[in-house]
This record gives sequence, C-alpha cells and structure tokens, in this order.
Amino acid sequence: MIYSPQKYAIADERMKPFIDEKEIHGFIENTKPTKERVREVIAKSLDKNRLSLEETAVLINATDPELIEEIKHGAKTLKERVYGKRIVLFAPLYVGNYCTNNCKYCGFRTTNRKQVRATLTEEQLVREVEALEETGQKRLILVYGEHPKYDAEFIADSVRTVYKVKKGNGEIRRVNINAAPMEIEDFKTVLEAGIGTYQIFQETYHRPTYGSVHLAGKKADYNYRLTGLDRAQESGIDDVGIGALFGLYDWRFELLSLIRHVNHFEACYNVGPHTISFPRIKDASEYDIPEKYKVSDEDFTRLVAILRLAVPYTGLILTAREPAEIRDEIMSFGVSQIDGGTKIEMGSYSKKEEEQNLDKEQFKISDNRSLGEIIEDLVDKEYLPSFCTACYRTGRTGQHFMEFSVPGFIKKFCTPNAMLTMAEYLEDYATPVVKDKGYKVISKNLEEMEEDDFKKKVLVRLNRIRGGERDLYF
Ligand code: SAM
Ligand code: SF4
Repeated sequence: MIYSPQKYAIADERMKPFIDEKEIHGFIENTKPTKERVREVIAKSLDKNRLSLEETAVLINATDPELIEEIKHGAKTLKERVYGKRIVLFAPLYVGNYCTNNCKYCGFRTTNRKQVRATLTEEQLVREVEALEETGQKRLILVYGEHPKYDAEFIADSVRTVYKVKKGNGEIRRVNINAAPMEIEDFKTVLEAGIGTYQIFQETYHRPTYGSVHLAGKKADYNYRLTGLDRAQESGIDDVGIGALFGLYDWRFELLSLIRHVNHFEACYNVGPHTISFPRIKDASEYDIPEKYKVSDEDFTRLVAILRLAVPYTGLILTAREPAEIRDEIMSFGVSQIDGGTKIEMGSYSKKEEEQNLDKEQFKISDNRSLGEIIEDLVDKEYLPSFCTACYRTGRTGQHFMEFSVPGFIKKFCTPNAMLTMAEYLEDYATPVVKDKGYKVISKNLEEMEEDDFKKKVLVRLNRIRGGERDLYF
C-alpha cells in the first residue's frame, strides 16, 4: 500500500514520513565530542532531561575509551537514581508464522521453503498460554507474521482468547502485540480486544538499506511502516513501542533515528513511545545479510548506554536474542523489561524440550534459560523481578502517564507492585530455594521504604497474598 496524503487528510502533518537522512548524517559528521561537551551532555541527562539529536550525536561520536566509560557510568547512575532494582518480565508467544513479506534477515520470509509454517489453532493457543501460566508468566507479547490470515479480527480474537485462559492461579493480565502495521479502523478492532502495547520496529530507518532488505510484500513500503504508529495513535492506541534491528545499517544512524522518532511522537502527541527495543540481528534460516554493519558487543553495550541517557524516561526492552553476559551489562544501564523463559518455535511452550531448529523459528536466541532460572539469577543480583500490569489496567497510559514525569511514581506504584507480583510468583511457582531468596529481596526493598501509612498498606497486601489472595495492586 502506497502512502496517500489524501487518505489521511484528518491526520495532516502527522502522517508524513519524518526521517531526513541528510539531517541525521549531518549530526554524525559535524558534531564534535570534546571532553567538556560530553560531560555536559551526561550531566544534562542525569538531571532527567531528554537529549536533543545534537547532544545524542555528541555521545555517539565520543570514541575515547575514558569517555565511553563515563557514558556507561552515567547510564548506570541514571538507572540507580530513577529505576531502582525493579525489572519487568514478559514472554513472547508466536501465534502464526505465515508471511507474505520477504525480509532478508528473517526465517519467516516468504521465499524460505524450509520454514515449517503454522498458525496456532484456538486450542493450541490455549495450551500454549496454559503452559506459560504454569511457569508464572503474567505478561505476553503475541507475535504474528504478515499474512491475509492474520487480519485485525484474527488478531483481536487471539488476544481475547489469551485473556480468557486461567490455569490454577495463573492468568495473563496484559497482552501486547507485535504485528504488521494496519489501517486506523483495523487498529481500533485490535484495541477493543484490550491490547496493552502495540509494538512495531522500523528495522532500519535508512531508506536505501530498507529497500535492499525488504524485497517483496507490504513491508517493502517504508513510508507505510514508518507512519504505522501514527495510525495506531490516531485509532486510540496510546501505548506504542518502537525499535530498530541493529546490524542492517550504521548503528549511529539508527540510534539517532530512534531519537528522531521519539521527537516526532512528543511533538505530535505530547507523549513519547512507551518503549524502545534494540534487537541485534541474529542468524536465521535463509538469512542473507552482509556482515558490514554487524554491531560488536562493545558498540552494542555502548549504544544502549547512550540510548538510556538520551531518553531517560522511556522504557527499554532487552530480549533473549542476547546472551546472559550481555544482558547483565545492559540491565545495569536501566533496561525496564526483559523476556524470560523465551521459546520462539511455534507451539513450543507446551512441548517437551527439543533442540533448537532454525527451520522452525524466526531466528536464533542466545538466552535459553527458563523463567525460574532467570528469576533466581535476578534475585541473586538483588534485582526485584516484577509482573506488574497495574498501569494499563488502571488507565495510567499514554499522555496521562509517564513513569518519569510523575514525582515519586516509581516509589508509589512500581516498586510496591513489583513486590506484590513477585510475592505471588514466589507463593505459586518458585522452588523453596528461590522463594527464600525472593522474599529476602522483598524484605530489603521494604526496609528501604519510609515508615508511613503507605508502607503499612504494602505490608497488609503482602500478607493477604501469603494468605491466598491474588491480583492486588496500587
Ligand atoms: N511480522 C511482523 C513484522 O515484521 O513487524 C512482526 C513480527 S517480526 C516476527 C518481529 C521482529 O523480529 C521484527 O520486527 C524484526 O525486528 C525481528 N527479527 C526478524 N528477524 C530477525 C533476526 N534474524 N534477528 C533478530 N531479530 C529479528
Ligand atoms: Fe515476515 Fe516479519 Fe519476518 Fe518480515 S520480519 S519476514 S514481515 S515475520
């Protein structure tokens, strides 16, 4: 589908592509990263201000190892000041891998004859969700290929099905989706099914590269994809996630473009995207991407630290595409969400363990630990795992809600809700060892709270959870 200004006349300027390659290259080529300037920019971010494109370019161009260390240290400080130890967990669930697009990096590309294609039936979907609930998951992102089978009605139905599944004390309380961009009316259909975040990645913001890796299908239309989240916003979906697939083009260009995308959102809707994802490209069946722009571990960790400083109040999502060691470093820069217990082969949550098989999945993941193992590792490092879904369920979304902009928000809502959802997990799903370790982390977080009426309320709710009640939140 070709972008047509007439069609979106109501949405005026907002529906126009907003990436100016010359402008972005200009910042990369002309910004000078003196020591003083780099330090000034880090200090601005630590004062909880968003960075401009020029300021982000200052950090990008700082290649002196001492300055890179200062940038990483800045990101860690920001994390400690703002986000504390909480980390939200979710799992991806692949609903269907038929796809009419031909993305040269993806195992689901239409030309990949080796790929085993499937769409979960309602019954299979229920089994997958039950299996996820049995491990303690509460938040899912449903993922779909792009195919006429997966129209808005199909997606809405699958979302409704997931919400209905209850296994023991288990339930999914927030369903996000990652699906191809749609028309405004279709987004409305999906919104009515109760989705949390709508997530879609531009993959690369660089037009020539975009054209060279998206060979066929609707996804080949750069503008239609770029304005997808504007149509989502127009339909009433005010909680959206953006992202770039690192490894297709120069990471510096992609990083600045992500910031440009945030600017566009703030200018048009008074609110930035809820989350930013930064998947790094992984091997896949029929994968056909040159090595030229492959992002090294060193550049990858550095780019996430810069991103953290550039948008201090936007959620960052890190996935199991990355191995545990990289996940550990990046989490210390203030990632707000990670996936745990991830399986990306269709229907694999309800199956017994099998070897990973590239012909049955979209790409290769690097962190294959179970949710239980990830939680144990997190609590060992004194993180506070969270399955909180309170904001979305109490209407704290979009313009009316930005964790960062509401003073004391994290203290008042996020940390207590993390403790409550973690206590539920420990009661229902943890081994005795993890239960013991987990309650120690909760106690430590309680000790850090002021002795006031609010703390008493948190303690009462924790006791109610121990007594068998569920789904208590602020
Ligand atoms: N089909 C929809 C689309 O393309 O937007 C949604 C699902 S797609 C399966 C989800 C994301 O996976 C893509 O946006 C892309 O960034 C990522 N992805 C695809 N191939 C990948 C690879 N080889 N390594 C890492 N991530 C990949
Ligand atoms: Fe299809 Fe998405 Fe894979 Fe592209 S990235 S081939 S659109 S599933």
